[in-house]
Amino acid sequence: MRLSPGFAEVPCARCGTFVAGLAFGEFCKDCQQLRARRASQWSRRISLAVTALCAFYVATRLPPTPTARLWAGIGVVIMYLMVRRIAYTAVLRHTK
Ligand SMILES: [Zn+2]
Repeated sequence: MRLSPGFAEVPCARCGTFVAGLAFGEFCKDCQQLRARRASQWSRRISLAVTALCAFYVATRLPPTPTARLWAGIGVVIMYLMVRRIAYTAVLRHTK
């Protein structure tokens, strides 16, 4: 439930700072930035690890032709971007 600004201040769900215009269960601006930064760090680590494993698997399984290597590289890059996006969303939802 969002209250009108100036009517009442609601505490941040993480740090407890009272902020006007905040809904119950929402985070203040500082906490949102902190959560986004943490989620970005974790998603980068997770996606790099997953991509390294995927690249190793693909490198050992593919025939050594230039076309196969090109498509494998494209696939690995796409996988990195997708895993990073998914991990970012998941970490952001599950961190307080
Ligand atoms: Zn806060």
